[in-house]
Amino acid sequence: MPRFPAALTFGVWFSVALGQYCSLPDVNPEEFAATNFDYLVVGAGPGGLTVASRLSEDPNVAVGVLEAGGVHMIDEVITVPGFSGQALGDPKYDWAYSSVPQRFANNRSIPSFRGRMLGGSSAINGMAWGRPGARELDAWDQINNGAGSWGFDAMLPYFLKTETIQTEYISFLPGLDNPELLASFHGQENGTDGAVKASLNTFIDEAVPPYVRAMNEFGVRTNQDPQSGNTTGVWNTLMALDRDHGVRSEAGMAYCFAYGRPNLKILTSAFVRKIVFSHGAKGYDAAGLVFSMNGSDSQFSVNATREVIVSGGSVNTPALLEHSGIGDPEILRAAGVEPLVDLPGVGANLQEHPYVPSVFQLLPSLVTFDVLKNETTMAEQKAIYDNNGTGLLAATNPTLAFFTSRQIFSENVTQSLLSTFDSDVQSGGVADTRFTALNKAQFAIQRRWLEEDVVVSAEMLHRGGDSELKDNNRYMELLTGLMQPVSRGYVHINSSDPTGPPIINPNYFAASYDRQMVTEFLRFHRVLAAESELEGVIVKQIAPTVNITSDEDLLNYARDTVSAGAHITGSAAMAPKELGGVVDSKLRVHGVGRLRVVDCSIFPMQLALHPQALVYAIGEKAADLIKAAREA
Ligand SMILES: Cc1cc2nc3c(=O)[nH]c(=O)nc-3n(C[C@H](O)[C@H](O)[C@H](O)COP(=O)(O)OP(=O)(O)OC[C@H]3O[C@@H](n4cnc5c(N)ncnc54)[C@H](O)[C@@H]3O)c2cc1C
Repeated sequence: MPRFPAALTFGVWFSVALGQYCSLPDVNPEEFAATNFDYLVVGAGPGGLTVASRLSEDPNVAVGVLEAGGVHMIDEVITVPGFSGQALGDPKYDWAYSSVPQRFANNRSIPSFRGRMLGGSSAINGMAWGRPGARELDAWDQINNGAGSWGFDAMLPYFLKTETIQTEYISFLPGLDNPELLASFHGQENGTDGAVKASLNTFIDEAVPPYVRAMNEFGVRTNQDPQSGNTTGVWNTLMALDRDHGVRSEAGMAYCFAYGRPNLKILTSAFVRKIVFSHGAKGYDAAGLVFSMNGSDSQFSVNATREVIVSGGSVNTPALLEHSGIGDPEILRAAGVEPLVDLPGVGANLQEHPYVPSVFQLLPSLVTFDVLKNETTMAEQKAIYDNNGTGLLAATNPTLAFFTSRQIFSENVTQSLLSTFDSDVQSGGVADTRFTALNKAQFAIQRRWLEEDVVVSAEMLHRGGDSELKDNNRYMELLTGLMQPVSRGYVHINSSDPTGPPIINPNYFAASYDRQMVTEFLRFHRVLAAESELEGVIVKQIAPTVNITSDEDLLNYARDTVSAGAHITGSAAMAPKELGGVVDSKLRVHGVGRLRVVDCSIFPMQLALHPQALVYAIGEKAADLIKAAREA
């Protein structure tokens, strides 16, 4: 899109330009069902839209996408970065799922947000954009016995293919006393013509420079190139944010350029109820889908002559497989679904990053995102945004830190964490979940990482203005997420009604290691705040309150406040079948023909990252695998 003409306000121009530049052609369900598709894709998130867009580059290949949600490409709740968060839990945009009551988190049902629209979760997420650590991604190859080339070097071309890094904005960081400290993106290898636009922030909260210097004082270095495969350190993350227009760059808008292709049909508000099969060389071959339109009971069938690709995300993909008869026969029978393919890994191996905050009140003179709580300032900033797509509403909290255990904790604490890890693993399971062969293979890798202190075990996000406290004070939240927890959970169906919500159980804090780690981090937040330059900008700690000091009380606070990173992965893991995998290293579902999974559920093990860039890269790689199979 060109820059907006000066005569129009940005807001008006953007809606008009987008309407001209990007509209999804109308398709009705009868027309869709009658089309002879080569490939059918379930779900229009980063995984589904990437693969659909690449496959439809060949005009001789017909691709159909079914998406349960609607289209919100010019809805401010989605496009305006400063409104990020408003869509969460709203069924207009979100599946609005929650976990089952979490026994180790004071029986709370914890929201498990998942985007439901063209663009999927990329349209409601926090926009952080980055690659994983190389050593971690290389473990995916290890789990798959070296098959398939999923390590960092093999995936780098795919990361580059998906992104356009808007490097022209990199040095523009107003309000920083020491720009060098934070202008930490110096990557040599930037994508230049990928679908997703990514940029650095243009506003830095005034608590950030003292925070970064505090981290440096504690030995956590500023990482100048976190895209390189080494993610440790404190850094200013890229955001999936089109800085030319100040809007979120989500999959729905990113793939606009493909929507006019006559061989690509996308039907929204269409919920896929099950996969249908024909008898083939492998037993069952995926042959098509049954779907219904939102709010209607009538069902439609549509066929795919080559393949069905499931990209419903890490909650709905395993649910769809189970509703289609693929999974653990006992679970399927209990839900009233006839088992067709015995694949117990479906829905198992669920891994999620649990996050816990410490909240500090800051000096009232600091300019932080909290200024937006003042109605006049909000109105002024909205006017700036509407006029030129800049200002505080075009910005988000960008500062995060990733570290290994010994970078933060003493040798004693690290050794104690190691022995807790060992006893958790030896116990054979957590809560109602027994560790599988795949989990044990993951733990062997995780233990080596912990012992050698080479891989990130936790993330700490610095956030301003996100506090629930709506008064006029300034606040800073240090939000720690466990990147390599030991807890494992599951997602399964419990009824034969495909429209019902699946059971989601991440088992937060079920492993002692996770509980010990989070308690240590709550202590670390406090020490960092009291014994560094941060002390000069902090008025007091708000949560956990100062009287919460014992391990037991700190843990209880963590149980009360833990939230989901919304990074659920692993529920249709890419791993050998005998380990408990669901798809092979070419993303083909074990034991079924013509059926692949292309989304974040295929992660064989959780990584220390914000996952979206990797999911787009998985979509790119899947497209190459599918094209190669067609040509073979
Ligand atoms: C609140 C939140 C914050 C996040 N923050 C970040 C972040 O800052 N950075 C980052 O890197 N990642 C973040 N993530 C994670 C990231 O957005 C996801 O990992 C990524 O979007 C996963 O892509 P996907 O294609 O696997 O699934 P999704 O993006 O979830 O897409 C799946 C799509 O399939 C559709 N679908 C599902 N079932 C059906 C069905 N039966 N029929 C038809 N359609 C169906 C859904 O409606 C959805 O549109 C966040 C996620 C959330 C929810």
